[in-house]
Amino acid sequence: MRFAGAAAAAGMLRGFRYHLFMPPTPSQSLVLTFEEARRVVEDQASQTAPGGNETIDLLHAAGRVLAEAITADRDIPPFPRSTRDGYAVRAADLATLPAKLKVIGEIKAGPVQVASAMNRGQAFSIMTGAPVPQGADAVVMVEYTSPQGDHVEVTKGVAPGENVVAQGAEAKRGSLLLDRGTRLNEAAIALAASVGRSRLQVFVRPRVAVLTTGDEIVAVDAEISSTQIRNSNSYSLAVQIQKAGGDPVLLPIAPDEPRRLRQLIEEGLQSDLLIMTGGVSMGRYDLVEPVLAGLQAEFFFTGAKIQPGRPVVFGRVGSCGAGAPAREGASAPLSQQRSHKHFFGLPGNPVSTMVTFELFAKPMLEAGAGMSPRPLTFVHARLKSDIRIKTGLTRFLPAILSGKYEDSLAEPVPWQGSGDIAARARANCYIVVPPDREHILTSEWVAIMSL
Ligand code: AMP
Ligand code: MG
Repeated sequence: MRFAGAAAAAGMLRGFRYHLFMPPTPSQSLVLTFEEARRVVEDQASQTAPGGNETIDLLHAAGRVLAEAITADRDIPPFPRSTRDGYAVRAADLATLPAKLKVIGEIKAGPVQVASAMNRGQAFSIMTGAPVPQGADAVVMVEYTSPQGDHVEVTKGVAPGENVVAQGAEAKRGSLLLDRGTRLNEAAIALAASVGRSRLQVFVRPRVAVLTTGDEIVAVDAEISSTQIRNSNSYSLAVQIQKAGGDPVLLPIAPDEPRRLRQLIEEGLQSDLLIMTGGVSMGRYDLVEPVLAGLQAEFFFTGAKIQPGRPVVFGRVGSCGAGAPAREGASAPLSQQRSHKHFFGLPGNPVSTMVTFELFAKPMLEAGAGMSPRPLTFVHARLKSDIRIKTGLTRFLPAILSGKYEDSLAEPVPWQGSGDIAARARANCYIVVPPDREHILTSEWVAIMSL
């Protein structure tokens, strides 16, 4: 990871360090608004470079990030392409209707050679996707024609260029089609295929350590007592990390005990990014911040004015030894190149974990995966029923988006707060409520963060 300059918030915090195992006092805590916290993350992300490259088959490239630019190997389309079944004509020949043209041949898509140019009063029968012959400047749809022996009668005129895509109209030979940093979806993969690229250079996925903390947390398949809680956060995070282009590395569950917690945090800092859950609130056993402070961590923020997810922590720790061993065929991973490692301490409540990953951890991870930065965008929908809520925090309410076509409606899912995974599982979006809104009325437009 490279640091071209310090973040604004990092600047505000320079020289500010927590001391070993001293819980942060309120005066030391750095709680930012949602927008401020997001800006800090985006700033850090903009200074984060991806790791090495690897070459992979096109069929395995979905979701990967291009480490090379893809250019057009030839004009696209490589010839003037008919977009209809019909007749290649000279538009001027159809000035008077109906017009009768002599059909001098047939052109279908495929390896055809049209040697002769077309003259006045002539036409070629032509299929969709076939090359329009020299001398023709338009295609008239078959629906407006009727064959008459070796002639065709045309009943509708066409403008020059109609139903034809000119050679190179979509892209000129050598022009940039996909830039380095593009996340490969089906369209990008189709485009790469269309210019003959069966293998692509992509960035190595960043390794993201997931460390869940809490004495009450047990493995999913362990014997469980009535007061224990199964570890679900590592699993939701693993999914979110993979969706954002990373490789999750699940560490053992950390107890609320500083020595073992520190060991596991140090292990997690060997990866490209460390994401912890739990242990970041103000309780006596919330030890993540003090342990990180003992590792001379720099904290960019220790809370955001959001709900769910208020106690979210973001920071970095200075050079922490060798990284993970390089994978075969790949250049040095990010973990070996960085002098700093970033970490997130996400709140343990499962919905808070999911929301704070989405808002803050994702941009860092995407940057480490080599993706070009993209701003957070919301869509809008009308509210299905009133929302009343306390002001002061930006809310991300699990909600259901329903309705039809352009008439989209959003409604919060009834929930028991940020521990309610079942409610979140019923939701298909979040309604974003700004911190100054107390009462939003039915039918008002609200911002929606899609899932
Ligand atoms: P904490 O942030 O450590 O105070 O935890 C807040 C709540 O989240 C508590 O009810 C925890 O039991 C719960 N929690 C913490 N970690 C996990 C996890 N990995 N999976 C499920 N629930 C968790
Ligand atoms: Mg805890």
